[in-house]
Amino acid sequence: GDPDLPLEITGLAKTYRGGVTAVSDVSFSVERGMVLGLLGPNGAGKTTALRMLMGLVRPSAGAIRAFGEPIGPGAPVLARIGAFVEGPGFLPHLSGHENLRLYWAATGRPAAEARLQEALEIAGLGDSVHRRVGTYSQGMRQRLAIAQAMLGLPELLVLDEPTNGLDPPQIHAMREVLRRYAAAGRTVLVSSHLLAEVEQTCTHVVVMHHGRVVAAGTVEEIIAGGGAASFTVDAPQRAAAV
Ligand code: ATP
Repeated sequence: GDPDLPLEITGLAKTYRGGVTAVSDVSFSVERGMVLGLLGPNGAGKTTALRMLMGLVRPSAGAIRAFGEPIGPGAPVLARIGAFVEGPGFLPHLSGHENLRLYWAATGRPAAEARLQEALEIAGLGDSVHRRVGTYSQGMRQRLAIAQAMLGLPELLVLDEPTNGLDPPQIHAMREVLRRYAAAGRTVLVSSHLLAEVEQTCTHVVVMHHGRVVAAGTVEEIIAGGGAASFTVDAPQRAAAV
């Protein structure tokens, strides 16, 4: 595997017990510096795909490599990936800052207050980090959850529908968070069911439908193509990272 390639997914498939095939033969790569949007309607298989690459769901077939190393439950390379795959439970009577410090301590890694501050800074919560989480809006909780995923400044940040349930100003704020994160030379993989959102946030897009990849390319290519069906997707996209 290529140690410089944040993510390489080959022939990934998942059939759940009971027979639902959520993901079929999915292949794509995420290069350093990309903000790659995994776009598709509800039920397209985005969550299943992201859970597999976090080692939370066992693939029925295929291979996932991150930075050249295979991913599976407990794989060491998972330490280089930060993920937001479902809303974490925060302690409402503690501040955002305290919640993150607690989480950081629980990971067993050395406490680095400066990093914690940086993650909170990127999340753009301002002075609210010292208010009780119980007083937060959903958008603020969501941004705190993203900050938590970013705590170790992971080289690859994976977010499942981070703007779900947010209003337009909150979505705008989230977009800025992801842009700033990637601008620092890191890599982001984010799922969404909204083309407009992907268009405004991402450099590259992989479109999923019925568990399959139906299009992939730069945002410009996807828009210019005028539709998912006009793209072939076997080859990982090699466009320069923006
Ligand atoms: P959403 O935006 O609704 O989360 P998605 O694109 O993320 O959609 P998935 O959640 O991966 O899609 O679901 C894909 C298919 O797999 C759906 O038909 C869903 O019902 C099914 N599915 C998801 N999780 C399980 C599970 N644990 N057991 C059985 N079937 C599942």
